[in-house]
Amino acid sequence: MNSISDNDYLPIPELRKLQLEKLQRLVAYEYERVALFRRRCDEKGVKPRDIASLDDIAKLPFMVKTDLRDEYPLGLTAAPMEEIVRFHCSSGTTGKPICIPNTKGDVEVWAEATARCLAMYGLGKGDVLQVAYGYGLFTGGLGLHYGGEKLGCAVLPTSAGNTEKQLMLMRDLGTTALACTPSYFLHIMEVAKKLGIDFRRDTKLRHGIFGAEPWTDEMRAKIERDSGIVAHDIYGLTEISGPGVAADCGRTNGLHIWEDHYYPEIVDPETLQPLPDGEKGELVFTTLDRFGTPMIRYRTRDLTRLHPEQCPCGRTARVMDRIKARSDDMLIVHGVNLFPSQIETALLGVPEVEPHYQIVLTPTETLDLLEVKVEIRSESFSDNIRELESLKKRVLAAVKTITGLSPKITLVSPGSLPRSEGKIKRVIDNRKK
Ligand code: ADP
Ligand code: ZN
Repeated sequence: MNSISDNDYLPIPELRKLQLEKLQRLVAYEYERVALFRRRCDEKGVKPRDIASLDDIAKLPFMVKTDLRDEYPLGLTAAPMEEIVRFHCSSGTTGKPICIPNTKGDVEVWAEATARCLAMYGLGKGDVLQVAYGYGLFTGGLGLHYGGEKLGCAVLPTSAGNTEKQLMLMRDLGTTALACTPSYFLHIMEVAKKLGIDFRRDTKLRHGIFGAEPWTDEMRAKIERDSGIVAHDIYGLTEISGPGVAADCGRTNGLHIWEDHYYPEIVDPETLQPLPDGEKGELVFTTLDRFGTPMIRYRTRDLTRLHPEQCPCGRTARVMDRIKARSDDMLIVHGVNLFPSQIETALLGVPEVEPHYQIVLTPTETLDLLEVKVEIRSESFSDNIRELESLKKRVLAAVKTITGLSPKITLVSPGSLPRSEGKIKRVIDNRKK
């Protein structure tokens, strides 16, 4: 059995009992140490002793990203500084970043969670895990690194970038698993092709461990088809630890959440009322085993649902749908809701274009202009205007079928749009000030 934790198969009643004990411990700890949490509980008239069942979690206040910004740098830190061993930060693009101090125990639990994901994919001792997520404040690099070492893989910490060297080391050291963002892997595949490297023939690469950004099922199919590897999905966020919160077992199209550590809820994003398993809404987490910066009912903004049925693999941890969208990413164009992943799905249905695209929104005097720029495949590149016009029409039809919108389609030459080494930025919204 590819499992390193007995908790993977814990019978559900025992799992719920364990979760409740941990929740009660956490709420008492947080109430005693974090002023913001205590104040909000007092305002709601709820005390730690009121948590008598898991459903009582709904009595507790939510936490959101702006709380972390407002309390920057250490207002939500519950442990004394002597117990902190590592800081991570995220989203420094606009305004203040958020800062998450981790205790030794936090780092260990996170490494175990990530190692469980890798074991579930079938990795173990003897595997060479190349970590091409960025190392640093971002959790991707160090998260996979510690998880890989914990499992006993030989970790190759290349970090992101320097793609030709990545490929050289991959071949020379016999990398069997590569962890990076799916968009960076698209770029790695492109560079490999240019250098005449065929993954199937010239490397031992079998597993891709992709996450940190949404990627569609169509993108996954393309990656697997073009490279011959299995593309695994890994999910996580800095606030809750980092990558390794959830991962796919290959038996169902979704991700097991390690809910003995990270307790999930789905709430209606408008009313904030809890929704039953099976219904789609916003994913909320409570970190049952984190003590540096615990999160209680943290609203992720990620939209998904929890599967009501148990996974055929036998693991009892609940499965969530793959994350296709984050409520923050939703664009409203001409009154229609648009998720970038819908454009990705549409483009991957047109074989003459590559999934390298950009969505540009520009304000005009009348309606906002929505433009989709997409690269033509080099094999399909042509000077023939009529052929290009016909291709444009097909791209437009594909986008319209899925989104109901008719954007301006701009075909651009192969390799002309920016590539990413980390999380890619596919939307340029010039409507925002
Ligand atoms: P930032 O908030 O700065 O982007 P994080 O690395 O903490 O930094 O980002 C976490 C977010 O990334 C998640 O909330 C989710 O939206 C997205 N994400 C992470 N992993 C996945 C995945 N496997 N699939 C889809 N989205 C993901
Ligand atoms: Zn499963």
